Amino acid sequence: MREETDVLICGGGPAGAAAAIVAARKGLRVVVMERAEFPRHKVCGDCLNPDCWDVLEVLGVADGVRRLRQGVLRAVRMVSPGGREVVVGLPEGAEVAVRREDLDELLLRAAAAAGAKVYCGEAMTRLAEVEGGWEAGTAERAWRSRVFIAADGRNSTSCRLLRLSPAPLRDRVAVQCHAPLAAGHEERVSLEIFGDGYAGIAPVGDGEMNVCAVAAAGDVEGLRRRLMERLGIPEGVEWHRMAPLERADLAASPRAGLFLTGDVARVVEPFTGEGIYYALKSGMLAGQAAVMEMSGNPAGGWYAREHAGMYRRRFWVNRLARVAVTRPWVGSVVIRAGAAFPGLLRWVTSKVVRPLSAPGG
Ligand SMILES: Cc1cc2nc3c(=O)[nH]c(=O)nc-3n(C[C@H](O)[C@H](O)[C@H](O)COP(=O)(O)OP(=O)(O)OC[C@H]3O[C@@H](n4cnc5c(N)ncnc54)[C@H](O)[C@@H]3O)c2cc1C
Repeated sequence: MREETDVLICGGGPAGAAAAIVAARKGLRVVVMERAEFPRHKVCGDCLNPDCWDVLEVLGVADGVRRLRQGVLRAVRMVSPGGREVVVGLPEGAEVAVRREDLDELLLRAAAAAGAKVYCGEAMTRLAEVEGGWEAGTAERAWRSRVFIAADGRNSTSCRLLRLSPAPLRDRVAVQCHAPLAAGHEERVSLEIFGDGYAGIAPVGDGEMNVCAVAAAGDVEGLRRRLMERLGIPEGVEWHRMAPLERADLAASPRAGLFLTGDVARVVEPFTGEGIYYALKSGMLAGQAAVMEMSGNPAGGWYAREHAGMYRRRFWVNRLARVAVTRPWVGSVVIRAGAAFPGLLRWVTSKVVRPLSAPGG
């Protein structure tokens, strides 16, 4: 039996949850299919860019997020392949690191509280465009909707089923763990570029740190081993793996009533810690687009413009970071320049990490 609904969302990460909250609060019938049981682990550096707070306020979850266990980040420390170090202060109270299992569970609960029907532990296995909408289903159930929102991350099943999958670009992978906090990593995020990849280290509260390493598939194990030794990470700590790191962008609304959000539409280089913001913001926009569609206004063009606008202001910093980490000599030059002209590095950092717009929010 196929159930009728207004909006079908595949994926209950930040993008899917944000879309669900916005659409359900406007009274739409919303279904979220989520493959994992929550709370679930997600490979991520856990750093919450300050721009997230405005979106979290609109979603009504900012206070809840502030109460989650977290690490406060007062500075970013960048280390070049040659070992040169630069430390840039971050605006007071602007950036924190929150475990994704905590953040994503809070967001998905808020979606359910707003009225969305959330099915965890149910992977979407079927999706097809039909007259006037979409049909999709899990092994257990099936639905028909006017709007479909793809929010299922960088290895999107939605895109594969719709034959929209973009080719992966470079053969890089990420590995990540939570481990006991190493000395010298309190209250700051470290970004270290090596000849064979890079690492991000951030405190996440409760005496733990998040460690991410990104490298070519053949180099990542060596980098992981070196980090374990240097940071004293015990053998028993569980590491998680994620690929691909990089792939081509997709159009944000490639068909009528179809909206691609978060990592489905575009994956950014993890180095600058912005993916959660783009996921939340694009999810919120997709929720608004669904409301427009359901009131008879085609929203594809509007969504595509707003989606592009989200990246316009500062995407060049992420692109520069990608060049710096994939060509270590460029990373060396950038960090040396930062050491020689601290104002320049502060200016570049401020493009990504802006002061909070209002105290506490
Ligand atoms: C190494 C690394 C470090 C990073 N560090 C940071 C950082 O510090 N700060 C930051 O802001 N960003 C960071 N990012 C980026 C960030 O993790 C992503 O941009 C963000 O998670 C995207 O959110 P999303 O909702 O689009 O997708 P996801 O968070 O991936 O959520 C997708 C959801 O879809 C579900 N799903 C998948 N397939 C199906 C299916 N078939 N059916 C149903 N459900 C399905 C998944 O279970 C998942 O819950 C990092 C990324 C990497 C790889």
